[in-house]
Amino acid sequence: MDVSYTPARPCRVEDVPAWDIDTDVAIVGFGAAGSCAAIEARNAGAAVQIFEVASAAGGSAALSGGEVYVGGNGGTDVQRAAGFRDDTEDFYRYLMMAGGPAADAERVRLYAEQAVDHFGWLREQGVPFKGTYLPGKWIEPTTDDTLLWSGNEKAWPFSAVAQPAPRGHTAQFVGWGGGKVLMETLCGRAVELGAQVHYGARALTLVVDRHGAVCGLVVRLEGSPRFVRARKGVILCAGGFIANPDMVRRFVPAAEACQQQVTAGNDDGSGIRMGIAVGAAALNMQEFFATLPFFPPESLVKGIFVNARGQRFINEDAYHGRVAHYVLRQPEGRAWLLVDNGIFGRPMLQPDIPIAAVGESWEEVEVELGLPTGALVHTVEAFNREASQGRDPLLHKAGEWLRPLTEPPFAALSYCSGDFGAHAFTLGGLATRPTGEVLDADGHSIAGLYAAGRTACGLPRWGEGYSSGLSLGDATFFGRQAGLRAASA
Ligand SMILES: Cc1cc2nc3c(=O)[nH]c(=O)nc-3n(C[C@H](O)[C@H](O)[C@H](O)COP(=O)(O)OP(=O)(O)OC[C@H]3O[C@@H](n4cnc5c(N)ncnc54)[C@H](O)[C@@H]3O)c2cc1C
Repeated sequence: MDVSYTPARPCRVEDVPAWDIDTDVAIVGFGAAGSCAAIEARNAGAAVQIFEVASAAGGSAALSGGEVYVGGNGGTDVQRAAGFRDDTEDFYRYLMMAGGPAADAERVRLYAEQAVDHFGWLREQGVPFKGTYLPGKWIEPTTDDTLLWSGNEKAWPFSAVAQPAPRGHTAQFVGWGGGKVLMETLCGRAVELGAQVHYGARALTLVVDRHGAVCGLVVRLEGSPRFVRARKGVILCAGGFIANPDMVRRFVPAAEACQQQVTAGNDDGSGIRMGIAVGAAALNMQEFFATLPFFPPESLVKGIFVNARGQRFINEDAYHGRVAHYVLRQPEGRAWLLVDNGIFGRPMLQPDIPIAAVGESWEEVEVELGLPTGALVHTVEAFNREASQGRDPLLHKAGEWLRPLTEPPFAALSYCSGDFGAHAFTLGGLATRPTGEVLDADGHSIAGLYAAGRTACGLPRWGEGYSSGLSLGDATFFGRQAGLRAASA
């Protein structure tokens, strides 16, 4: 019986009856971070055993768009071929702003300097990137193109601190879901290099020695607890905690407004809990990525969001994940996207979005929404006046998206709470060095313990600054660092 094993309580080495499995490096989770940690640890000559609770490889990453956020060093060959230059300092400044108040300068610096090499490394492992550029504003490419604008690069205030460049690099796959290709390749490579994978294997808790160093794992295999000795270390790559309703309620209640989780379903925070139980600090647990795919069609970006006071609150050309956070925190959870006949279209991902009001004038729309008299009309008039001059002094929406909303009929698409399907995953996790070493509350590393991907608080740490590709870029790159460091322990 393993009922007594819980991630919240480590097992003492003196309570281990016998080691069932012996390895150098034990990895929990065979998703984006776990596969890359395994590849590097094997390349460094370490014996690697991977424990994956699911019956197949890939984790959430296999369901993802397969978009990896890379740039800097003048640009990847794909960026350069499409005519974009991407200086490391611009990439660095962008990533620092994207990381928000808790951005980790050391981690950002390393990534900004090495992301282009990392892109090369992914290709060396066999990940196919077609190399072509898809202009426009997309959530994921509907084609098999590689390069797209996947964040806030061209939107204020990001555009004011860093020269914009498209940095979302997507694995070649026609339509949505390039993560399948990415993960088949990376997991296949880890196995080819000799990493041994156990499926249906849930890591239950860590094993610690008398000094508090992590020296193994307890894993449920074929219904029984098995004791895994990890001579060089354990790497926690078990994803975040969006699939754990109790943890979401406790740490990131704002994400409860998002009805759907962006995860394979096993990312229940067990990795984070195992780390906390041996003294690790957890950072930024309140942060989450949320989606609000109100476009495509991109014409909808020319609409304006207003709240229950009839006021605008965000430049609508920002990344949809940033827009999501602003929409989610409007008073009473009420917000609408105002459009006119010239830009109207049904959002591709939620064509049945409720239309809360339609009118031949903005006054009619305002009355139908029940807003204070004159509030919405004043907002639209002020927007139209400036937009006709190609300006948005209030929220700095870029000129290419500015167009007065003057062609009736007019409509308000409802982004009120409950009317749209937002998705979320968590960004908080264990404190680590860029090497993956897990840190305690005093900033000291916990011997034998490493973490990467969403189990760690990594590169993406601010929902308002998230860009598509940051999570996979972070998980694959820092998964590699953890594998290298553990193997050299
Ligand atoms: C639909 C969708 C689209 C997305 N698109 C993108 C995108 O284009 N770009 C991007 O950057 N991000 C994207 N994401 C997010 C990204 O996929 C994840 O954030 C990323 O996969 C995190 O990597 P990870 O290695 O931390 O976790 P995962 O890839 O989820 O891997 C964690 C693994 O750990 C296993 N596990 C958990 N607990 C245990 C345990 N106790 N014992 C054993 N195994 C365990 C899980 O089963 C899982 O296989 C998307 C996600 C989804 C679902």
